[in-house]
Amino acid sequence: MHTVPLLINGEFTPSSSSEFIDVTNPADNSVIAKTPCATQVEIEQAIASAKAAFETWKDVPVTERARVMMRYQALLKTHHDEIATVLSQETGKTFDDAKGDVWRGIEVVEQAMNVPSLMMGETVENVARGIDTVSMIQPLGVCTGITPFNFPAMIPLWMFPLAIACGNTFVLKPSEQDPLTPMKLAELFMQAGAPAGVLNIVHGGKEQVEPLLTHPDVHAVSFVGSVPVGQYIYKTATDHMKRAQCFAGAKNHSVIMPDANKEHVINQMVGASVGAAGQRCMAISVAVFVGESQQWIDELAEKIAQVKPGVWDDKNAGFGPLISPAAKARVLSLIQQGKDEGATCLVDGSDVTVAGKESGNWVGPTVFKDVTADMAIYQQEIFGPVLCCMCVETLDEALALVNNNPFGNGTSIFTNSGSAARKYQREVTVGQVGINVPIPVPLPFFSFTGWKNSFYGDLHAYGKQAVRFYTETKTITSRWLEDDIARGPNMTISID
Ligand code: NAD
Repeated sequence: MHTVPLLINGEFTPSSSSEFIDVTNPADNSVIAKTPCATQVEIEQAIASAKAAFETWKDVPVTERARVMMRYQALLKTHHDEIATVLSQETGKTFDDAKGDVWRGIEVVEQAMNVPSLMMGETVENVARGIDTVSMIQPLGVCTGITPFNFPAMIPLWMFPLAIACGNTFVLKPSEQDPLTPMKLAELFMQAGAPAGVLNIVHGGKEQVEPLLTHPDVHAVSFVGSVPVGQYIYKTATDHMKRAQCFAGAKNHSVIMPDANKEHVINQMVGASVGAAGQRCMAISVAVFVGESQQWIDELAEKIAQVKPGVWDDKNAGFGPLISPAAKARVLSLIQQGKDEGATCLVDGSDVTVAGKESGNWVGPTVFKDVTADMAIYQQEIFGPVLCCMCVETLDEALALVNNNPFGNGTSIFTNSGSAARKYQREVTVGQVGINVPIPVPLPFFSFTGWKNSFYGDLHAYGKQAVRFYTETKTITSRWLEDDIARGPNMTISID
């Protein structure tokens, strides 16, 4: 049985812990590895190693740091299939979707390759007579990251490459449910020439996260995961005077206007709702049909019903299993609640299984209509292959529904009307908006900008905002005028 190592000071070492968590193949729940719950001493060592490495890494020229990222990007591309295979085996994602998970992370590494221009400061010459002002950004020190199970390549890659390219060092605590993919990413990072201690990895759950939020040598905390944990991490980290950015849960709505192209809507909504078994923070879980477009609900349901779950290397599988038996039990209980509360279940995936893999965490595609805002299936993030269909008469009503929802990660509108699209993009209180694009995840030269209960903090993931998050600004005002001495003392606050 493979036991997942820790990465401390450049060494992949076994933990001395006596506590382990099983890593399973969600397609049959067989155990494929064991993750240690790192001891408090090991976590101290990881932070100490990052702190020591910072002393030299911060002085490595920015061009050299960028070159580590260039080599890393090349290695990730060379090993793309290999990483995706590991990822598929521990998450159950279909191979193509697993490749997408890795690819969206590689794109962030490509952004980290641009770090010299991203770190450029500002200069104004002659702010007063003979005085120039320059601002520059400098790294913070040790940064930490806590990541969820659903994107074990992309989300760690949202964090450590940019933090490290900016000159920081990092301690990552990946999800205990799929730590093999992040370890693969770390092996390649070391091969790319990252010095010992620049990236460290510890494993476990809440107990292992605690010191990463409270330790005096940690300067910034990045988190992605569920709402209660995100709130706890944001409060704990900021209580301990750390910078924090916490990306949390979601309930993403698509608004379907009657003037949209029906075929396009149906095709886009299938993948956006049940792709990755709905375990995406940007999955569309609510379709809001405006006016006449509600006549398309049955056709959409029929198309969604044709999608079959299956094992990761089955080319005909539309998506894989849920991550764990607990996740499956939660989704099944919400489906039952939907039925009990009076929603009409057009497609019911509760009893779906996959031949030969009956012990897996399967839930088939599920579609409800007649959903109302007071139902549990509307109020809670289901994180399963379940689409809730709701009907309203006007765009204003659709906007009110979306804006009253406490989440604000992503949303989309399908329409052929420029004015409807513009009204929606201006008035919706959600941070990422798609127009005829169901899942509008921005590429890494922008930032990932969830709002409301989907994000706690100010500066978002990747792009320029991440560079600001992982750096501090220093402003330097200088004078080099020889005739200054003759002017005598200046007793005022003004610069001249
Ligand atoms: P989770 O909150 O259970 O776990 C996330 C991380 O926090 C893991 O590393 C876990 O070990 C750790 N953790 C769990 N409980 C903790 C506690 N009490 N104290 C400290 N740390 C703890 O989330 P998950 O189930 O792995 O991921 C799914 C969730 O992540 C969904 O809600 C999804 O919407 C969200 N998510 C959000 C985004 C986004 O960008 N907004 C992206 C991906 C996933």
